[in-house]
Amino acid sequence: MVEEVWPNIFRTEIPLPANPLKAINSYVVRGGNKFLIIDTGMNRPECLEAMQSSLKKLGVDLRQTDFFITHVHADHFGLVSELAKDPSRIYFNHPDAEIIKDPNHWEKLAASAALNGFPVADLQTAIKRHPGYKFHARGPLDLCLLKEGDVIPIGDYAFRCVETPGHTKGHMCLYDPKTKIFFSGDHILGDITPNITLWSENHDPLQQYLESLDKINEYDINLVLPGHRNLLHHHRQRIAELKKHHEVRAKEALSILEKGQQTAYQVASQMAWDIDCEFWEDFPLPQKWFASGETLAHLQYLQGQGRVKRELREEKAWFSLAGV
Ligand SMILES: [Zn+2]
Repeated sequence: MVEEVWPNIFRTEIPLPANPLKAINSYVVRGGNKFLIIDTGMNRPECLEAMQSSLKKLGVDLRQTDFFITHVHADHFGLVSELAKDPSRIYFNHPDAEIIKDPNHWEKLAASAALNGFPVADLQTAIKRHPGYKFHARGPLDLCLLKEGDVIPIGDYAFRCVETPGHTKGHMCLYDPKTKIFFSGDHILGDITPNITLWSENHDPLQQYLESLDKINEYDINLVLPGHRNLLHHHRQRIAELKKHHEVRAKEALSILEKGQQTAYQVASQMAWDIDCEFWEDFPLPQKWFASGETLAHLQYLQGQGRVKRELREEKAWFSLAGV
C-alpha cells in the first residue's frame, strides 16, 4: 500500500510479522528526481519485499535516494543497510550512533537486566529473540550525523532536525516550518503508546521523554506523520494523553511498592499489560523484557523525583517507597 499523504510525501506500510506493532510507516519524499526515505523497516525479507514493491510503484531510484532514520530501533533502522547505495547519505543522530558502534551493547543491557531481577537463566534467550538483535542493519555503515536545527532540503521541503530524546537517547524528528508537517518517529504515536525503556543505570529516559513532549507541545503542527499506525492532526491533545498515561503508570508502580521492597522485574510482573496472556508466567520472553525495561524506566523516574529509593544488595537493585 502506498498513499500520497501530502504533495510529494508518500506513506508506505512495511509489515512487521509476529510483532505487536504490526507494521511500520516508511515515508518517501520526492523532490524532482531525488528522494528521501524516512525510516525503513527491519532487516528481514518480508520488509525488503514490501519496500521494493512500494519503491517500484513510486519509481524511486535508490541511487538518487538519501535516508533519514529517526532512531536506532531495528524496525526503523534495520533495512537501511539493504537499501542504501554508494551515493546515498544516511542521516542519523549522535547518541544512537554510539549504541550501534558499541560492541558490548547487548552485554551491557543483559547486565542491567540481571541487576534488575530478570532471571539470569532466561537472559541469553531473551536477547537472541529480541527483534533488535535479530533484525538489525548489517554494518559498518557510513552515517551522516545531524544535530538540532540542521536542515535537510528536498524538493519544496526544508526539514529541520528536532532532537526528542526519551524513546531512545538520540531520537530525532523532522519538521518543515513552511507546511508545518512533523515526522514524529516513535516520539508521538496516535493509536499506541511509545515504549519508554531504560538504557543504563545512569539515565532517566522517562523524564527526558516528558521534557521532549513539552518541547513539541510548543510547535505549530498541521499534520503528524508517526512511525506506526495512523496519521494525526491534534498533537497537543495526544501529548496530554501520553503524559497522563505515564502519570497513571507511575502511580501503579508506586501502589505495587506499597507491598515492600522489590526488583523492577517483580514490579513489572504485577503491572497491567495490554497483552493476550492472563498470567505473567505465560508472557513471551521478549514481552517480559520490554515490560521490565518499561517498569524500570518508571521506577528510575520516580527515584529522580524522590518518591522511590533504590538499594543495591545481593547483586540486585531493590526499589522501595521513599520515606518508608
Ligand atoms: Zn522505536
